Amino acid sequence: MDALVSLCKRRGFIYPSSEIYGGLNGFFDYGPLGAELKRNIRNAWWQDMVHRRDDIVGLESSIIMHPKVWEASGHVAGFTDPLVDCKVSKQRYRADQLFFAAVTVEPENSASDSSEKQIIGYVSALESERTTEELQEKAETLKRKKAVRGKLEPVVARDFTEAKPEEYALIPSPATGEPGSLTPPRAFNMMFETNVGAMRDASSIAYLRPETAQGMFVDFKNVIDTTRVKLPFGIAQIGKSFRNEITPRNFIFRSREFEQMEMEYFIHPDADWLACHEAWLKWCQDWLKSIGLPESSLSLYEHPKEKLAFYSRRTVDIMFNYPFGVQELWGIAARSDYDLQQHQKFSGVPQVYFDEAAKARIVPHVIEPAVGVDRILLAVLCAAYAEDEAPDEKGKLEKRTVLRLHPRLAPCKVAVLPLLKNKEALAGRARALHAKLQRRYAVAYDDGGNIGKRYRRQDEAGTPWCVTIDFDTIEKPGDTFTLRERDSMKQERIDEKALFALLDEKLN
Ligand code: ATP
Repeated sequence: MDALVSLCKRRGFIYPSSEIYGGLNGFFDYGPLGAELKRNIRNAWWQDMVHRRDDIVGLESSIIMHPKVWEASGHVAGFTDPLVDCKVSKQRYRADQLFFAAVTVEPENSASDSSEKQIIGYVSALESERTTEELQEKAETLKRKKAVRGKLEPVVARDFTEAKPEEYALIPSPATGEPGSLTPPRAFNMMFETNVGAMRDASSIAYLRPETAQGMFVDFKNVIDTTRVKLPFGIAQIGKSFRNEITPRNFIFRSREFEQMEMEYFIHPDADWLACHEAWLKWCQDWLKSIGLPESSLSLYEHPKEKLAFYSRRTVDIMFNYPFGVQELWGIAARSDYDLQQHQKFSGVPQVYFDEAAKARIVPHVIEPAVGVDRILLAVLCAAYAEDEAPDEKGKLEKRTVLRLHPRLAPCKVAVLPLLKNKEALAGRARALHAKLQRRYAVAYDDGGNIGKRYRRQDEAGTPWCVTIDFDTIEKPGDTFTLRERDSMKQERIDEKALFALLDEKLN
């Protein structure tokens, strides 16, 4: 992760926001290469989700909507995370990401009667893959520190939302290692508030949207009234969302301003919703594989029935194996007709679709695949990042860093490199090719430094192909140049026509 974060900074993929003022926790800027990569992810999704399907239309709704939208959706009352404060360090934690365990010791020479077991204290750790092992190690340290004899029981990790009130004061703060400073969890609403208009009072409160999905519900009537969509159909949107996350972390994985790509797929209430949910789950997995995420890095997490929101029939998350653990990438939820029913109730405007066959008005149900652009971008970078060896100018192998990005996503598709900067014949031919490529693709022109260094630079940026204009190009018939492929580092002679054909095939 450190190597990736440093590459992102060094090569201009991602910067901390407002860095000259010390940054702002949970906010990021995308630099020149990052902005291209992000745009390519959005475009690929839009192309496959909207343009290449007959049943899905696009939408761009406003970020600030009528505050009643968020009352209807349940966000005002319930879009909360359980917040725990450490009164000493002033650190804040999400209770469901703060793990603890009672440290239990069975005294020596006792019969294995559980009543003899003794709790000698508590240990805590922040969420990570190895929480249980971490807690076990801490339990052993505590036992040594307290000089207690006896057999240590294996710890059972629980999160702070499962703590009993009498345990709150006994669980150590992860910041200080001492108990007594953690508050009981309290509901913290994650929506950013603002005021609309000149008055700053309760009547002017509005929210930055915490999800794009409500735009599709609120415009559902508009879309069916102004287009020719027929059930089942979907409305898709890409846009910024804002959540005042208690603990933004893991680089861009959890931030306070991020971008979502969501699609609401409306189906008939009598339709086979489970089959539809399964189909979308498969579509999303296939799409992630199509943009280069290896199948082995993906897994599924089925939300337990008892933890589902009351209106949800099923939610399955596609998980990605990030360097900091297996985490949610894409959530696919069957949301019943909850949202449309709520908006019907709160607005008084019927949210119905006329079922021609049954000659009846119905409220459709919804399957929702919701994903974060930034989380895909991070997954794509993690999967693409590699270190291997490449020959230097003298043929000696040296370490190289390469981003093996799918060509469709690569910020720059081709780099045009004149072998020598000062030979006008070479530079002129290179500039002409560059100008021609530029009309269709994001391309780079690089004439600085030796050719090996230039290849290395493009490898780090994830550019799939470099073309070098050399003396053979201008002196020999055929107007061919060297095409160098990023991953295999293989080189071959190619002419302009073949180059355009290759790009067309690989990128479209
Ligand atoms: P989490 O449990 O990780 O907070 P969530 O289940 O609340 O996520 P959803 O409300 O289902 O997330 O949002 C849909 C998608 O939006 C997520 O799968 C994720 O890709 C993205 N997303 C949500 N919150 C953030 C965030 N703070 N930063 C970046 N992406 C996010």
